[in-house]
Amino acid sequence: MKKNLETLCIHGGWKAGKGEPQQLPIYQSTTFKYETSEQMAKLFDLEDEGYFYTRLANPTNDAVARKIAALEGGVGAVLTSSGQAANFYAITNICGAGDHFITSNTIYGGTFNLFGVTMKKLGIECTFIDPEWDDERIEREFRPNTKCFFGETISNPGGKVFDIERFANMAHRHGVPLIVDNTFATPINCRPFEWGCDIVTHSTTKYMDGHAMQVGGCVVDSGHFDWEAHAERFPGLTEPDDSYHGLRYTERFGPMAYCTKLVSQLMRDLGSIPAPQNSFLLNIGLETLHLRMRQHCANAQAVAEWLEANERVSWVNYCGLPSDKYYALGQKYLPNGSCGVIAFGLKGTREDAIRFMDNLEFISIVTHVADARTCVLHPASHTHRQLSDEQLREAGVAPDLIRLSVGIENVEDIIADLRQAMDRA
Ligand SMILES: *Cc1c(COP(=O)(O)O)cnc(C)c1O
Repeated sequence: MKKNLETLCIHGGWKAGKGEPQQLPIYQSTTFKYETSEQMAKLFDLEDEGYFYTRLANPTNDAVARKIAALEGGVGAVLTSSGQAANFYAITNICGAGDHFITSNTIYGGTFNLFGVTMKKLGIECTFIDPEWDDERIEREFRPNTKCFFGETISNPGGKVFDIERFANMAHRHGVPLIVDNTFATPINCRPFEWGCDIVTHSTTKYMDGHAMQVGGCVVDSGHFDWEAHAERFPGLTEPDDSYHGLRYTERFGPMAYCTKLVSQLMRDLGSIPAPQNSFLLNIGLETLHLRMRQHCANAQAVAEWLEANERVSWVNYCGLPSDKYYALGQKYLPNGSCGVIAFGLKGTREDAIRFMDNLEFISIVTHVADARTCVLHPASHTHRQLSDEQLREAGVAPDLIRLSVGIENVEDIIADLRQAMDRA
């Protein structure tokens, strides 16, 4: 029976059998026992399925990965120990030294650094494009060694909506997959696979968890991209893997090739696996994701409208506002709401903005977003402080930008706190 998202949030990934725990159990074990040495050997050769060591797979982690795959409508998913690891693995699973990829420049600051600095040191080059450029200008950036295209459904912190369908078509014209970081929208508000995207990533640290309990990530594969049709570009998936006796992933695993390779090579060798305890906590967050997203969006809409009408505020970015530059794209991709994150600027100096934040009562200054608690951050002095002014602008972050992550408290209390902090600033 095909289930709706609300039902999948509760029931996806884990089904208790007779006498089994109703709640997903925590398999807090590094290792799993076998009866014969041959049984174990087959697991190591990927000839049999089963658990043997938690770095490669763990039943608690797998149940949560299955739930997220179901929510996104993918064929498989792999949990990682952070959102950073998820984006790193999603790309390096198909991209190595000497390769190139293209990314939107309006992305999370940590991802910007990962792509522009750390991956460059590993010999992987990336080109940052402005999604507002016309097709012709962006398409000039594709090279014979380009392996993928990357963007964020709703950019953190700028709140820009990525035109998934447009960039999926463009990527496919050049024989590469589109990877979308769907952290802010969550599958409740947008399912990028329905618009042609091939691979989705998440920082599960944000709304999926929702309670600031664990840092985690996830890579989900749609199973749609035809690696064999572009075999010369993706030899890692289509050619023999010497570390598994010459096995070919696409031939052996079909639509599960990408996820299987990610686990059996990257997770095996680099090991960014989440603790089963954390996956258990993430799963509790996922059980209420649908309810929380609805409230985050309703509250944020009211707060954005209040900010827009406030004479102390110089500008507001929230794609739910009809005046917003991204309203039309928001209506297309996020018709039921986008997320709780608003970006705005206060009139006055940088010090006024800092005083405003210091005057807040229950709204907290934290390096976190997408949480049940309303929180606030000034990217230029916090998350993005490693970036130069020019890089800030390139990443779509104005120096006066305040990132407000609207929680699920009573919305009148949230507005009252903002108002009193502005009064005293
Ligand atoms: C937070 C975030 C990340 C990084 O995730 P971590 O879990 O903090 O490693 C990646 N992408 C987006 C859009 C994020 O908001």
